[in-house]
This record gives sequence, structure tokens and C-alpha cells, in this order.
Amino acid sequence: MGTICSLTLFEKGTPALYAAAFGRLKELEDILSANREGTDLDKVNKNAGIGPVKVRPELIVCLDRALVYAEKSSGAFDPSVGPLVKLWGIGTDGAHVPKEEEIKKALTLIDYRDIEVNHDAGTVLLKRPGMALDLGAIAKGYAADELDTRLTGKGVDRAIIDLGGNIFAMGEKKAKKGPGDFFRGLNPGGSGKQAKDDGSFWRIGVQDPRENRGNYIGIIALKNKTVVTSGGYERYFMEGGKRYHHILSTENGFPIENGLLSVTIVADKSIDADGLSTSAFCLGWEGGRDIIASVKGAGGIFVFNDLSVRITPGLEKDFTLSSAEYKLAKP
Ligand code: FAD
Ligand code: MG
Repeated sequence: MGTICSLTLFEKGTPALYAAAFGRLKELEDILSANREGTDLDKVNKNAGIGPVKVRPELIVCLDRALVYAEKSSGAFDPSVGPLVKLWGIGTDGAHVPKEEEIKKALTLIDYRDIEVNHDAGTVLLKRPGMALDLGAIAKGYAADELDTRLTGKGVDRAIIDLGGNIFAMGEKKAKKGPGDFFRGLNPGGSGKQAKDDGSFWRIGVQDPRENRGNYIGIIALKNKTVVTSGGYERYFMEGGKRYHHILSTENGFPIENGLLSVTIVADKSIDADGLSTSAFCLGWEGGRDIIASVKGAGGIFVFNDLSVRITPGLEKDFTLSSAEYKLAKP
């Protein structure tokens, strides 16, 4: 998937189970990748303006969810962004600032309303020639959910699934055994703060978008949830002293510039967290906050280039800011 994927199973981590999990990731890549020939998604793209293509159900599930976020964001998030992504080539050796007329042409090809999904027939049609799907903004989330479901089915209660920063923290950090855990369940340590210190919460760092990997602005404490970040700080190129990142505006065709450095989403499903992280990054604080509020159990941490941090209501109790350089702003 063009990134490092790591799995840590805290129990039942047999070589066979790891192999099955990575095998499933490979299978999903064969269905969903826009970067390789012969995937189901590639076949849909090659038949744009020609006819519907029968695809495996995984592509339909993922695309359906992407279309929900396209609707919710009024097309700021759009899975038909493919022509623009290809044009910029960010993350490839050919990354460059395109010509204005090339951008204009690519923009005319982007419109999620021209994607036709036929659920009965299991087909997808792109209505106009030149259109192309790109599910890079949501497919890793779907893959993380798939692994969560499969591993849970194999009796794994505790695991960390990390697909290039798309993290699913399965279950609780502390193993569920012994009488103490019975009481922990009934009375998780009294006050909210104490409850987060009882060893059962995973602690996931929110990357400092201005620093190298491994530097955090703060920590989220959570159980059985997923954390996904979108930002302009890892996948970009420099031209003429300017930085161009990979999350693109479907309005003007350029990398989004709205003062945001990153958006981190906490949610129950990784496909939602991934869809929301990119949508919220595109929409900015106000639109982003509203769209996050529309998904049950979801919250967001927005980091701005003036080093302010805004958190959606409800999530602030789970997040501890640890960097002295950043300041919490009122939501
Ligand atoms: P997100 O914020 O989650 O997504 C950003 C990505 O979404 C962009 O890179 C672009 O692809 C797309 N996008 C940009 N603007 C918009 C918009 N307005 N609306 C909707 N989507 C938008 N990378 C490689 O270098 N080589 C590979 O072979 C490769 N294979 C992949 C296979 C699969 C199945 C997947 C899911 C990804 C693959 N990638 C590959 C990575 C991919 O190109 C993206 O870089 C990556 O998915 C971005 O994820 P993110 O979490 O960084 O950002
Ligand atoms: Mg995303």
C-alpha cells in the first residue's frame, strides 16, 4: 500500500495468523490499488465512459463509504479525484506542479455523482471517459477494519494494527484475566483521570506535524478504537522553495491550504476515521467539526500552523497535550 504496515498481536500471534493477516492486506491491495495495473479499481478506471465493470464486493463496500463522505463534504472529499492525483504524481519520481490547463481539465473529470454503483449486479461505472477512482484517502481504513474483524474472529482480543499511521488499537491494553479485572470493569478507578491510569488504555501519540516521526504533541488514551491522521507533512515534494502536499482541493486543483497542519480522528471504525480525516482536512475546522459530529463515536484533533490545537467536544477528556510549543484553543 505504499507504506509500512505493522501488526502486533498480544496473544495468539502465531506465524500462520500473521501470514493470513498480511495475506489479506495483499488481497485488498489487489482489489483497491490505484497504483497498479489489473486491480478491480484499475479495471473500473480503464472502462470509464465505456461500460460497467463487475468488481469484488470489497471495492463496493469501500466505494459506498467514500460516496457517503463525498455527499457529507459536498465533494471536497471525492473518490473520483484520480485524474488530479495522477497529474500531480505526489509520492512518485514524476511529482511536479502541473500546467494550469492540465489542472482545469482534470477538475472537469472529478464528480462523484458520475460514479454509478449497481449493487444488484455488483458493478461500478464511471460515466465519462477520463474519469478515475482513487481510494487512497479511505482504503487503508477499510483494510484496518477488515483485519480487526478477522483477528477478532480468530479470538485475538488485544492487538495494534498500524497501516502507515492508520492505527487500530484492538481491545484493552491489559489482559482480561484475574479477579482484579472484574472490579476494574465495575469501577474503573473513580474519576476520569484515574480511570485512564488503570493500565487498560492504549496510549497513542499524535505526531508533531513539524517534526520527524516519533515526536508527539500529545497522547490519546483509548480502548478498542482507531486513530487516523491526515496531514501535509509526510507525502509532499518541493518546487521553487514551496511545499506541495498530497491532499488536493477539488475546487482549485491545488494542495489544500487552510492553515491546517494535520487532523487526527478517533472513531470506532477505521474506514470512518480515514474518510473523516481527509474530509476534515479539506473542509477546515468549522466544516470538519460538523462532519465529525455526524458520525457517532467520532472526535477530532485539529493542529494549525499557528501551533494552536482545537479538539471537538467530548474528545478533550481523552487527549493530553504534552508539547509546550502548542496551545489548546477554545473549540
Ligand atoms: P489521506 O489523507 O487518508 O489520503 C490522501 C490521499 O487521498 C491522497 O494521497 C490521494 O490519493 C487522495 N486524495 C487527495 N485529495 C483527495 C480529495 N480531495 N478527496 C479524496 N481523496 C483525495 N502509494 C505508493 O506510493 N505506491 C503504491 O503502490 C501505493 N499503493 C496503494 C494501494 C492501496 C490499496 C492504498 C490504499 C494506498 C496505496 N498507496 C500507494 C498510498 C496512496 O497513494 C496514498 O498516499 C495514501 O493512501 C495516503 O494516505 P494518507 O493516510 O497519507 O492520507
Ligand atoms: Mg483519510
